[in-house]
Amino acid sequence: MNQVRNRLEPPVTHGAEPFWAGTREKRLLLPWCRPCRRPFFYPRPFCPLCLDRDIEWREASGTGVVHAFTIDHRVEGVSFADGSPFVVALVALDEGVRLMTNVIGCAPDEVSVDLPVTVCWEALSDGRHLPLFTPRSETNTR
Ligand SMILES: [Zn+2]
Repeated sequence: MNQVRNRLEPPVTHGAEPFWAGTREKRLLLPWCRPCRRPFFYPRPFCPLCLDRDIEWREASGTGVVHAFTIDHRVEGVSFADGSPFVVALVALDEGVRLMTNVIGCAPDEVSVDLPVTVCWEALSDGRHLPLFTPRSETNTR
């Protein structure tokens, strides 16, 4: 399967602490700007639209669609020693934000724009989990 091996683990950046805390329980939390009443991504200490710091964290549905993607065929590299192709995708969540991730659990050539996907989790070494995405099961029978 097209798992990404020997992944470089992302740091916990300023303002993203609640996001990463949620991943310890496999909960996908999004920052919502209270004044704007909308989520944003990536996590940061202020709203990118209005710059307000009045932020609350809400659990996301975990579902969305592939907005854009590329298949990386690199066969060498320090971070991906496995060598098999993998999918780097921009996933549009149902909440309206997009996040950069990998689509796993299917062959790379099965990924397409608008493919419905759902979150799945890859364990990191420190108890956090990385949100990845996999095709929703109802689309596998098409
Ligand atoms: Zn705002």
